[in-house]
Amino acid sequence: MTAAADLIGSHDIIWITVDSLRYDVARDTLAAGDTPHLAALLTDGWQQRHTPGSFTLPAHQAFLAGFLPTRPGEHRPARPFAGRFDGAVGARPGSFVFDEPSVPQALAARGYRTVCVGGVGFFSGRGALGGVLPGLFDESRWSPASGPKNRDSARVQADWMLDILADTPADRRLFCLWNVSATHTPTHPYLPDARRDSPATQAAALAAADAELGRVFAALRRPTWLIICADHGDCFGEDGQWGHGIAHPLVWTVPYAEVLLR
Ligand SMILES: [Zn+2]
Repeated sequence: MTAAADLIGSHDIIWITVDSLRYDVARDTLAAGDTPHLAALLTDGWQQRHTPGSFTLPAHQAFLAGFLPTRPGEHRPARPFAGRFDGAVGARPGSFVFDEPSVPQALAARGYRTVCVGGVGFFSGRGALGGVLPGLFDESRWSPASGPKNRDSARVQADWMLDILADTPADRRLFCLWNVSATHTPTHPYLPDARRDSPATQAAALAAADAELGRVFAALRRPTWLIICADHGDCFGEDGQWGHGIAHPLVWTVPYAEVLLR
Protein backbone atom coordinates (compact mmCIF):
# COMPACT_ATOMS: atom_id res chain seq x y z
CA MET A 1 0.00 0.00 0.00
CA THR A 2 1.25 3.46 -0.85
CA ALA A 3 1.81 5.40 2.39
CA ALA A 4 -0.57 8.21 1.45
CA ALA A 5 -0.12 10.00 4.78
CA ASP A 6 3.52 10.62 3.88
CA LEU A 7 2.54 12.26 0.57
CA ILE A 8 -0.25 14.59 1.71
CA GLY A 9 0.91 18.18 1.62
CA SER A 10 4.03 17.53 -0.44
CA HIS A 11 2.66 15.76 -3.54
CA ASP A 12 0.11 16.65 -6.17
CA ILE A 13 -2.42 13.84 -6.42
CA ILE A 14 -3.78 13.20 -9.90
CA TRP A 15 -6.43 10.50 -10.22
CA ILE A 16 -7.46 9.47 -13.71
CA THR A 17 -10.51 7.24 -14.09
CA VAL A 18 -10.64 5.82 -17.61
CA ASP A 19 -14.36 5.26 -17.89
CA SER A 20 -15.63 1.76 -18.69
CA LEU A 21 -12.16 0.51 -19.60
CA ARG A 22 -12.01 -3.26 -19.31
CA TYR A 23 -8.98 -4.88 -17.75
CA ASP A 24 -8.44 -7.22 -20.69
CA VAL A 25 -8.66 -4.36 -23.18
CA ALA A 26 -6.16 -2.25 -21.19
CA ARG A 27 -3.78 -5.19 -20.81
CA ASP A 28 -3.94 -6.30 -24.43
CA THR A 29 -3.67 -2.77 -25.82
CA LEU A 30 -0.58 -2.18 -23.68
CA ALA A 31 0.95 -5.49 -24.82
CA ALA A 32 0.27 -4.61 -28.46
CA GLY A 33 2.20 -1.36 -28.09
CA ASP A 34 -0.83 0.76 -28.92
CA THR A 35 -0.68 2.87 -25.72
CA PRO A 36 2.96 4.04 -25.73
CA HIS A 37 2.49 6.92 -23.30
CA LEU A 38 0.83 4.65 -20.73
CA ALA A 39 3.51 2.03 -21.38
CA ALA A 40 6.28 4.54 -20.67
CA LEU A 41 4.74 5.34 -17.31
CA LEU A 42 3.34 1.97 -16.22
CA THR A 43 6.57 0.02 -16.20
CA ASP A 44 4.91 -2.79 -14.23
CA GLY A 45 1.86 -2.81 -16.48
CA TRP A 46 -1.74 -2.84 -15.30
CA GLN A 47 -2.82 -4.53 -12.10
CA GLN A 48 -5.99 -6.59 -12.23
CA ARG A 49 -8.37 -5.29 -9.58
CA HIS A 50 -12.04 -5.33 -8.60
CA THR A 51 -14.14 -2.17 -8.50
CA PRO A 52 -16.55 -1.33 -5.68
CA GLY A 53 -19.20 -0.13 -8.16
CA SER A 54 -20.71 -1.41 -11.39
CA PHE A 55 -21.34 2.00 -12.93
CA THR A 56 -19.93 5.51 -12.76
CA LEU A 57 -21.85 6.95 -9.80
CA PRO A 58 -21.34 4.27 -7.13
CA ALA A 59 -17.79 3.54 -8.28
CA HIS A 60 -16.74 7.19 -7.98
CA GLN A 61 -18.65 7.70 -4.73
CA ALA A 62 -16.72 4.77 -3.28
CA PHE A 63 -13.40 5.91 -4.80
CA LEU A 64 -13.81 9.44 -3.48
CA ALA A 65 -14.71 8.10 -0.04
CA GLY A 66 -11.37 6.28 -0.15
CA PHE A 67 -12.37 2.82 -1.35
CA LEU A 68 -10.03 2.05 -4.21
CA PRO A 69 -10.32 -0.97 -6.48
CA THR A 70 -9.08 -4.01 -4.57
CA ARG A 71 -6.87 -6.95 -5.46
CA PRO A 72 -8.91 -10.08 -6.21
CA GLY A 73 -9.29 -12.21 -3.10
CA GLU A 74 -7.85 -9.60 -0.74
CA HIS A 75 -9.46 -9.70 2.72
CA ARG A 76 -10.02 -6.37 4.46
CA PRO A 77 -7.76 -4.56 2.02
CA ALA A 78 -5.50 -1.78 3.25
CA ARG A 79 -6.89 1.69 2.55
CA PRO A 80 -4.45 4.46 1.62
CA PHE A 81 -7.32 6.94 2.06
CA ALA A 82 -9.02 5.89 5.30
CA GLY A 83 -12.06 8.02 6.11
CA ARG A 84 -13.25 7.41 9.62
CA PHE A 85 -16.65 5.78 10.20
CA ASP A 86 -18.14 3.33 12.69
CA GLY A 87 -16.90 -0.13 11.89
CA ALA A 88 -14.10 1.08 9.62
CA VAL A 89 -11.35 -1.39 8.86
CA GLY A 90 -8.40 -1.23 6.54
CA ALA A 91 -6.42 1.65 8.04
CA ARG A 92 -2.73 0.78 8.25
CA PRO A 93 0.41 2.63 9.26
CA GLY A 94 0.79 5.14 6.43
CA SER A 95 -2.94 5.47 5.76
CA PHE A 96 -4.21 9.02 5.39
CA VAL A 97 -6.94 9.02 8.06
CA PHE A 98 -9.52 11.82 7.85
CA ASP A 99 -12.88 12.86 9.28
CA GLU A 100 -14.22 14.67 6.20
CA PRO A 101 -16.80 12.77 4.11
CA SER A 102 -14.62 12.50 1.01
CA VAL A 103 -11.03 12.54 -0.20
CA PRO A 104 -11.35 15.87 -2.08
CA GLN A 105 -12.94 17.55 0.94
CA ALA A 106 -10.24 16.15 3.22
CA LEU A 107 -7.52 17.40 0.88
CA ALA A 108 -9.17 20.82 0.48
CA ALA A 109 -9.13 21.12 4.28
CA ARG A 110 -5.37 20.57 4.09
CA GLY A 111 -4.77 23.31 1.54
CA TYR A 112 -5.14 21.45 -1.73
CA ARG A 113 -6.77 22.98 -4.77
CA THR A 114 -9.34 20.37 -5.76
CA VAL A 115 -10.57 20.16 -9.35
CA CYS A 116 -12.84 17.70 -11.15
CA VAL A 117 -12.51 17.27 -14.92
CA GLY A 118 -15.56 15.38 -16.31
CA GLY A 119 -16.45 13.20 -18.15
CA VAL A 120 -19.62 11.23 -18.46
CA GLY A 121 -23.03 12.56 -17.45
CA PHE A 122 -22.56 12.07 -13.72
CA PHE A 123 -19.99 14.90 -13.93
CA SER A 124 -22.13 17.31 -15.94
CA GLY A 125 -23.28 19.44 -13.03
CA ARG A 126 -26.71 19.37 -14.68
CA GLY A 127 -29.58 18.53 -12.35
CA ALA A 128 -29.21 17.55 -8.72
CA LEU A 129 -27.69 14.14 -9.44
CA GLY A 130 -25.26 15.51 -12.03
CA GLY A 131 -23.91 17.82 -9.35
CA VAL A 132 -23.18 15.20 -6.69
CA LEU A 133 -19.67 14.19 -7.83
CA PRO A 134 -18.45 17.60 -9.05
CA GLY A 135 -19.90 19.12 -5.86
CA LEU A 136 -17.22 17.37 -3.81
CA PHE A 137 -14.57 19.60 -5.43
CA ASP A 138 -13.73 23.30 -5.20
CA GLU A 139 -13.87 23.57 -8.99
CA SER A 140 -15.23 21.44 -11.79
CA ARG A 141 -15.19 21.48 -15.55
CA TRP A 142 -17.54 19.79 -17.95
CA SER A 143 -19.13 20.48 -21.32
CA PRO A 144 -20.82 18.32 -23.95
CA ALA A 145 -17.47 18.42 -25.77
CA SER A 146 -15.81 16.59 -22.86
CA GLY A 147 -18.49 13.91 -22.84
CA PRO A 148 -18.48 10.50 -24.49
CA LYS A 149 -20.37 11.58 -27.60
CA ASN A 150 -17.49 13.75 -28.80
CA ARG A 151 -14.76 11.77 -30.50
CA ASP A 152 -12.24 14.46 -29.47
CA SER A 153 -13.27 14.53 -25.81
CA ALA A 154 -9.84 13.48 -24.57
CA ARG A 155 -8.21 16.42 -26.35
CA VAL A 156 -10.71 18.84 -24.79
CA GLN A 157 -10.08 17.36 -21.35
CA ALA A 158 -6.29 17.31 -21.76
CA ASP A 159 -6.33 21.00 -22.69
CA TRP A 160 -8.22 21.69 -19.45
CA MET A 161 -5.76 19.58 -17.48
CA LEU A 162 -2.84 21.55 -18.93
CA ASP A 163 -4.55 24.83 -17.99
CA ILE A 164 -5.18 23.61 -14.44
CA LEU A 165 -1.61 22.41 -14.01
CA ALA A 166 -0.23 25.67 -15.39
CA ASP A 167 -2.34 28.03 -13.29
CA THR A 168 -1.95 26.26 -9.94
CA PRO A 169 0.57 28.26 -7.90
CA ALA A 170 3.88 26.47 -7.45
CA ASP A 171 3.52 26.52 -3.68
CA ARG A 172 0.00 25.04 -3.72
CA ARG A 173 -0.67 21.33 -4.07
CA LEU A 174 -3.31 20.05 -6.50
CA PHE A 175 -5.80 17.20 -6.28
CA CYS A 176 -7.41 16.56 -9.63
CA LEU A 177 -9.82 13.85 -10.74
CA TRP A 178 -9.99 13.35 -14.51
CA ASN A 179 -12.78 11.13 -15.79
CA VAL A 180 -11.70 10.11 -19.30
CA SER A 181 -14.89 9.65 -21.30
CA ALA A 182 -13.42 8.47 -24.63
CA THR A 183 -13.53 4.82 -23.59
CA HIS A 184 -17.20 5.00 -22.55
CA THR A 185 -19.76 3.85 -25.09
CA PRO A 186 -20.05 4.73 -27.95
CA THR A 187 -16.53 3.70 -28.97
CA HIS A 188 -17.28 2.38 -32.47
CA PRO A 189 -16.59 5.83 -34.03
CA TYR A 190 -12.90 5.27 -33.19
CA LEU A 191 -12.61 2.29 -35.53
CA PRO A 192 -13.36 2.79 -39.23
CA ASP A 193 -16.28 0.68 -40.49
CA ALA A 194 -17.20 -0.58 -37.00
CA ARG A 195 -20.94 -0.57 -36.51
CA ARG A 196 -21.15 -1.39 -32.83
CA ASP A 197 -18.97 -1.33 -29.74
CA SER A 198 -16.56 -4.17 -29.02
CA PRO A 199 -13.27 -4.77 -27.23
CA ALA A 200 -11.57 -3.68 -30.46
CA THR A 201 -13.40 -0.37 -30.62
CA GLN A 202 -12.71 0.33 -26.95
CA ALA A 203 -9.04 -0.44 -27.60
CA ALA A 204 -9.07 2.04 -30.48
CA ALA A 205 -10.62 4.68 -28.22
CA LEU A 206 -7.97 4.03 -25.58
CA ALA A 207 -5.21 4.28 -28.16
CA ALA A 208 -6.61 7.64 -29.29
CA ALA A 209 -6.79 8.88 -25.69
CA ASP A 210 -3.24 7.71 -25.01
CA ALA A 211 -1.74 10.59 -26.99
CA GLU A 212 -3.75 13.07 -24.94
CA LEU A 213 -2.79 11.33 -21.71
CA GLY A 214 0.82 11.67 -22.83
CA ARG A 215 0.50 15.44 -23.18
CA VAL A 216 -0.73 15.62 -19.58
CA PHE A 217 1.86 13.16 -18.23
CA ALA A 218 4.59 15.39 -19.68
CA ALA A 219 3.15 18.43 -17.89
CA LEU A 220 2.64 16.90 -14.44
CA ARG A 221 4.40 18.76 -11.66
CA ARG A 222 6.82 16.98 -9.36
CA PRO A 223 6.36 15.31 -7.04
CA THR A 224 3.04 13.74 -8.04
CA TRP A 225 1.19 10.64 -6.93
CA LEU A 226 -0.65 9.41 -10.00
CA ILE A 227 -3.47 6.90 -9.80
CA ILE A 228 -4.97 5.51 -13.01
CA CYS A 229 -7.83 3.04 -13.05
CA ALA A 230 -11.19 2.27 -14.60
CA ASP A 231 -14.39 2.88 -12.66
CA HIS A 232 -15.92 -0.32 -14.09
CA GLY A 233 -15.74 -2.42 -17.24
CA ASP A 234 -18.27 -3.15 -19.95
CA CYS A 235 -19.87 -6.16 -21.60
CA PHE A 236 -19.96 -6.37 -25.38
CA GLY A 237 -22.33 -9.29 -25.79
CA GLU A 238 -20.44 -11.80 -23.63
CA ASP A 239 -22.90 -14.20 -21.96
CA GLY A 240 -25.63 -12.21 -23.68
CA GLN A 241 -24.80 -9.13 -21.62
CA TRP A 242 -24.27 -5.56 -22.83
CA GLY A 243 -23.04 -2.48 -21.03
CA HIS A 244 -22.33 -1.93 -17.35
CA GLY A 245 -24.37 -1.48 -14.19
CA ILE A 246 -24.62 -5.27 -14.08
CA ALA A 247 -22.83 -7.89 -12.00
CA HIS A 248 -20.52 -9.57 -14.52
CA PRO A 249 -16.79 -10.34 -14.19
CA LEU A 250 -16.02 -8.13 -17.21
CA VAL A 251 -17.71 -5.23 -15.38
CA TRP A 252 -16.21 -5.67 -11.92
CA THR A 253 -12.67 -6.47 -13.13
CA VAL A 254 -10.75 -3.26 -13.83
CA PRO A 255 -7.21 -2.09 -14.66
CA TYR A 256 -5.36 -0.20 -11.94
CA ALA A 257 -1.94 1.44 -11.62
CA GLU A 258 -0.14 3.87 -9.33
CA VAL A 259 3.00 5.84 -10.11
CA LEU A 260 5.07 8.09 -7.86
CA LEU A 261 6.74 10.81 -9.92
CA ARG A 262 9.62 12.22 -7.88
ZN1 LIG B 1 -18.28 4.92 -15.71
